[in-house]
Amino acid sequence: MKWFNRMIVAVLPIFPKSFIWLFSCRYVAGITLKDALSKVETLNREGCRATIDVLGEDIETLEEADRSREESIQVLEAIHSHRLDAGLSVKLTSLGLRIDRDRCFENMRCILQRAKALNVFVRIDMEDATTTDSTLEIYRSLRREFSNAGAVIQSCLKRSETDVHELMKDGIANLRICKGIYNESPEIAFKKRETVRRQYMMLTEMLLRDRCFVGIATHDKKLIDRSLSLIESLQCRKSDYEFQMLLGVTEKMRGVLIDSGHALRVYVPFGRHWYAYSMRRLRENPGMAGHILKNLFIRG
Ligand SMILES: Cc1cc2nc3c(=O)[nH]c(=O)nc-3n(C[C@H](O)[C@H](O)[C@H](O)COP(=O)(O)OP(=O)(O)OC[C@H]3O[C@@H](n4cnc5c(N)ncnc54)[C@H](O)[C@@H]3O)c2cc1C
Repeated sequence: MKWFNRMIVAVLPIFPKSFIWLFSCRYVAGITLKDALSKVETLNREGCRATIDVLGEDIETLEEADRSREESIQVLEAIHSHRLDAGLSVKLTSLGLRIDRDRCFENMRCILQRAKALNVFVRIDMEDATTTDSTLEIYRSLRREFSNAGAVIQSCLKRSETDVHELMKDGIANLRICKGIYNESPEIAFKKRETVRRQYMMLTEMLLRDRCFVGIATHDKKLIDRSLSLIESLQCRKSDYEFQMLLGVTEKMRGVLIDSGHALRVYVPFGRHWYAYSMRRLRENPGMAGHILKNLFIRG
């Protein structure tokens, strides 16, 4: 069936956006902030925390970067006024990282300033390897001023052990650990599934042993089980970690973790740029395309 699912994903771009939305509405809260707030309210009622992401990485003009900053600030205001258990996730390329690094820094600083005043946590997402140095540099500079900021480390990258060590040494390691979504070259990234898992667990263990906060961002059952054993053997406090999952993915596992008393945060993307995000998600997991298509026909 793999070839069939891949074929579905390959032909998706020729369909109208309204058809693609049938696939996407599972992974994206909607187009407007109101849609995202309503999704977060539901998640909070189910016992999940959330982090909201305004879709729109890799913008092309500084006007778009400033607009992204304002949209992120609107999200912060809404989280505060609706008293939601939620934070904000931000991609630096949406704030102009590839166009003007200083402007991006100022935009991020502005977001963190407002977030601090409203007592909201902001995590800086990690993008492809061409941005790792600048993203960590900006995080380092801002984290001195803003303790309400965190970063992300990708376990597929060979450099990540050093990065985590350095962040820990500087006492600024509040990190989400994920495998990494970007297809990096074998010179800089591990390619074998089990090696990426081993590195994932090694980084998680380094952080938990040092009582640094870890967002365990994965849907991989093996990694979740290994993390649960680690948490138990190190007798971690609830405040040392949380599990994190993407909206619409492995919802059953989400429920099991919450019922066992672990904190879980759901990544809730929304916005006008839902189409590009959805195509990336479906390309990443062609199996989901086949599954959704089957459900559509059965229901139909
Ligand atoms: C909260 C959160 C934040 C993230 N932030 C970043 C980031 O800042 N930078 C970055 O590079 N990456 C980020 N990622 C993506 C991450 O790096 C992985 O690409 C993604 O989580 C898939 O890896 P996995 O560990 O879930 O394992 P996999 O082995 O890839 O997945 C395990 C199983 O989960 C299901 N699954 C996984 N992903 C999907 C999907 N998209 N759609 C449907 N089913 C799926 C499948 O059933 C799959 O078999 C984030 C992931 C999460 C959960």
